Amino acid sequence: MAKNRDDFTEKTKIKLKDNVGSRCSKPDCRIPTIAKSTNIGKAAHIYAASPGGPRYNSSMTAEERKSIDNGIWLCANHADEIDKDPDRYPVELLHKWKSEAEESARNELGKKLPNDSDAINMATSALTGNPTEFIPNAISNIHQATVKSLEKIDPAFTYKTRHEKETTIIECFAKEETPFSMIINENHIGEFRTKYKKLIEDDKDLKISANAIIIDDWKLLKEIGPKNDANIIISREQKPATLRLRLYLEETEKNDFFDNFQGFITVGSKSIIFQGYTFNKLLTFLMEGTKISMSLSLKEWDGLNIHSLPYFNKIFSLFSKIYGEWKIFVSMDISGDELINDNEMILPNSNFVNQVYSSLKYIDNCRKIAKILEVDILFTSDIEYTAKEFKNIENVLNILEGKEILHKKDLKNNPIINIQIGKNGFDNFQDFIDRAEPSSLEIKLAGQETIQLFNKNIILPRKIICCDSFYPKIGTNINKIKDGAMVKIEVVPEEDFKYSEKYNIAVDTS
Ligand SMILES: [Zn+2]
Repeated sequence: MAKNRDDFTEKTKIKLKDNVGSRCSKPDCRIPTIAKSTNIGKAAHIYAASPGGPRYNSSMTAEERKSIDNGIWLCANHADEIDKDPDRYPVELLHKWKSEAEESARNELGKKLPNDSDAINMATSALTGNPTEFIPNAISNIHQATVKSLEKIDPAFTYKTRHEKETTIIECFAKEETPFSMIINENHIGEFRTKYKKLIEDDKDLKISANAIIIDDWKLLKEIGPKNDANIIISREQKPATLRLRLYLEETEKNDFFDNFQGFITVGSKSIIFQGYTFNKLLTFLMEGTKISMSLSLKEWDGLNIHSLPYFNKIFSLFSKIYGEWKIFVSMDISGDELINDNEMILPNSNFVNQVYSSLKYIDNCRKIAKILEVDILFTSDIEYTAKEFKNIENVLNILEGKEILHKKDLKNNPIINIQIGKNGFDNFQDFIDRAEPSSLEIKLAGQETIQLFNKNIILPRKIICCDSFYPKIGTNINKIKDGAMVKIEVVPEEDFKYSEKYNIAVDTS
């Protein structure tokens, strides 16, 4: 083989395989690919590994070509198929397969795989609407059984079935133009008209009770229903689309490009709607016409150690930039054709950006503190903190990182400190006051502060206050001071005065 192939590492291959539960990622295949000493699966390249290969993209780096983002786990048959016919299997489609297969694998985790009779029961229930035995989260072989039966009834359509919360959803896609007529029940004409308008103009799904319409010349519906509690939903075709974000900072003329959002677009006569995801669906990007919005689903991180939150740094960097007034430019491709080319868009809800940025900053501060103090903390998305707590955590981090240093120019008044003179300590104290050179002082505070990070109480090490280069001044006559007394000292700073706080961390040997 040619040497300039950017092949995946063994580690990447294993990860690709594990992410989809060792099953083929093609949605209508999903066969297991691994059994004892036999592997019929392959880590296939989405963009080809070498020039001239299917879907090869010369603008990618070798690293990008080898990265896990560019791989998809397929059975040997389908790995060959997608490479033989790259036009039929564009990048967007493969990304869609991949994310769906990963999601299915997560949903199937720990669940019993249905046997053949389960599959027949499910097919029966999908066809009759009378479940004989309900199995949640039915998987591919069940759907295939249903699909085969439906195709026999009306071969003009392709079908997809799925089960959501005790509801069977059958999706029908016409293979070619398939005209049919329908009669709308008198009582539902107003409702149908309003919803139809929304479907055409804004591409909102038309959902109506199956009793509201009679479709006379459609074999399938005659055969399988409609049932009393069924709904018919008419939607526009959704096309896979890829959205790319470029952030730009005018001041420095710096650009930053972010991971692609993979999603779907629907086009109505009045608006275009795109919904796409990135960072393993943590981040959703929604575009309705010229309005854009984003949402972040931090629940995905629940229960994870805060040191290992997937995509945290990338997401934090994205929102730091948007918060820091980098401009957002959007490009979008539908099946390889450019729909939007680098248009500037504005997130209308700056409140959202502020809130997300503040939450991410809070998480980031907690992560840094936990790292320095070597504590493990589990992430939970339902945390609340006040502005004061936020500030306090930031202060603690600044001290831990050695950032809280004050100089003479930062002081409005000379600080006052209280010192308790030890037993037999007077002589030392007198030396301290009378010294001709500027003094330094380190005070270890007696108490220990507690902070809350993600609902966990963390006791901080003892705080040490350091003053460098000052002259101590006392208000009373030194001869009146006795051993054991509490004395107020005014700190009179020199030019190179420094005040800092630190925590007495045992491991810190510097
Ligand atoms: Zn396959």
